[in-house]
Amino acid sequence: MAQPLKIVIVGAGIGGLACAIASRRQGLDVVVLERVEQLTSVGAGIQIPPNASRIWAQYGLLDRLKEYSIISKATQLRRWKDGELLCSRSVGEELDERWPWFVIHRADYQRVLVEEAKRLGVELRLKADVQDIDFERTGVTLRNGAMISGDVIIGADGLWSTLRDRILGRNSPPQETGDLAYRGTFSLSALQALESPAVDVLCRQSMVTMWIGPESHAVFYPVRCGKEFNLVMARPDDLPPGVKTEEGNIQEMKAVFEGWDPVLTKILTAFSSVLRWKMMHHNELASWTKDNVALLGDACHPSLPYQAQGAAMAVEDGAIIATLLGLYQQAHTKSCQHLTLRETLKLYESLQKSRTTTLHSGSVSNQHLYHLDDGPEQEERDRLLKAAQWQEKPDEEAEPFIWIDVRYQKAVLGRDAVGDARKKWEEVTG
Ligand SMILES: Cc1cc2nc3c(=O)[nH]c(=O)nc-3n(C[C@H](O)[C@H](O)[C@H](O)COP(=O)(O)OP(=O)(O)OC[C@H]3O[C@@H](n4cnc5c(N)ncnc54)[C@H](O)[C@@H]3O)c2cc1C
Repeated sequence: MAQPLKIVIVGAGIGGLACAIASRRQGLDVVVLERVEQLTSVGAGIQIPPNASRIWAQYGLLDRLKEYSIISKATQLRRWKDGELLCSRSVGEELDERWPWFVIHRADYQRVLVEEAKRLGVELRLKADVQDIDFERTGVTLRNGAMISGDVIIGADGLWSTLRDRILGRNSPPQETGDLAYRGTFSLSALQALESPAVDVLCRQSMVTMWIGPESHAVFYPVRCGKEFNLVMARPDDLPPGVKTEEGNIQEMKAVFEGWDPVLTKILTAFSSVLRWKMMHHNELASWTKDNVALLGDACHPSLPYQAQGAAMAVEDGAIIATLLGLYQQAHTKSCQHLTLRETLKLYESLQKSRTTTLHSGSVSNQHLYHLDDGPEQEERDRLLKAAQWQEKPDEEAEPFIWIDVRYQKAVLGRDAVGDARKKWEEVTG
């Protein structure tokens, strides 16, 4: 193969950028088409669990990420009413300290990835709004009429993916999950100004704190090396159908969490404005690929963010696609027996689809776990959470909740996506 494969990636979110970086590392030509004029991300935090940080370690980006983040030592579940500790999980740290669990501001995460993509020679085109695909020519048409073609098209265009509809040949919007989220960040000084010793203690902790309660939960963690903090609160969705996000009312938000742990309600007083987000997901799609076109990330498996895995899955997808395409290119160059591009993309789908389907169900089961009303079921949940032993159990004694199921957590967090892609390729091509 004289020319490297040309990969056209639609969307410069975390998934698209991960795929772009990984593809350049395989020596592929990469163009990323992004519809917005300027890359800005939601003013909120994001967790980078070990299955994603392992990939960034492989691509040499851990030190850059560390410059902006905090390594979370544990995730703690606390009772909504009084903050009583129900469970502290540090599975990530125990897996392998080389792949930490980062908490970071989304803008910082995106900046690190964009800089790396550009450094590696990715062509990033902004104001490039993709309207359609020509499957036969492996090309996409932009709003201005221009056609950009390549050897492979990757639809990393998020929750409301245009490419998903084209692959399926029909509209396939995501479904409501029944929950909405309030999201906000605070500066350390704003939280210190609350003059609450309990809030100060929370701010000094390098961990993710969650309060779980009837129909709702809250997640709090540091970003920007502890200079800012992120708070997400989930509650029943009352946004009208079709409304994706809107400015929230702080009084209404406080009313929802009235009677919760005074530490949390104290933090709520630091909000100056708040956004409400409808949380959507998509059940398993019939197909993620058609011809030489494939979807990744939220375009094909958006799920409730109740395991901090959405973007991590998108990073895995991008790394797997790039690894397989790199192997395809090597085999082609050496004239070895190899798969077609279409079969290579199908191989990616076969590696990720059952995994993301399991994670999708995991998020839905966490929704139930986090939102139990006070009563016998909640009392039993709390008993089991407090009694968690963090040991793998035989199958017949599986934990009732994935949150404390060590086998499940190890499978999710300990995944070596790049290694699995290589193994699968070898298995299939002999
Ligand atoms: C409240 C909340 C908390 C979360 N917390 C976590 C967490 O802690 N950890 C985690 O791993 N995940 C988390 N997630 C999930 C995570 O944010 C998403 O799964 C992830 O960002 C998806 O990335 P993506 O690249 O697939 O899509 P996106 O980030 O949506 O990127 C898609 C990109 O495509 C562009 N685009 C769309 N259409 C077109 C078009 N036609 N032409 C050109 N460009 C286009 C968009 O402008 C956008 O830039 C959370 C989600 C929510 C809602």
